[in-house]
Amino acid sequence: MGAITVDVRAKSFAWNEARCVGCGLCVLACHARQALAMSPVPDYRLPYRSWFSLLVRGVPNMLGTAWRVWGRRA
Ligand code: SF4
Repeated sequence: MGAITVDVRAKSFAWNEARCVGCGLCVLACHARQALAMSPVPDYRLPYRSWFSLLVRGVPNMLGTAWRVWGRRA
């Protein structure tokens, strides 16, 4: 994601929070040296609590998008 920039000469790195998606791959990649660690975000809420709520919120948007795309087809 380009969230971590490493300066080899200065032996430092910078982390850009806006680009980080929280996948944790950087922690896995540096696991042997434990250079990085992740901590839970206390007030984080999952976007959807169940498959049902995903369907209830997502299907109307998908149908609306499909309708608009259908209307613009050549
Ligand atoms: S958590 Fe994922 S996106 Fe964020 S810095 Fe690590 S590898 Fe990059």
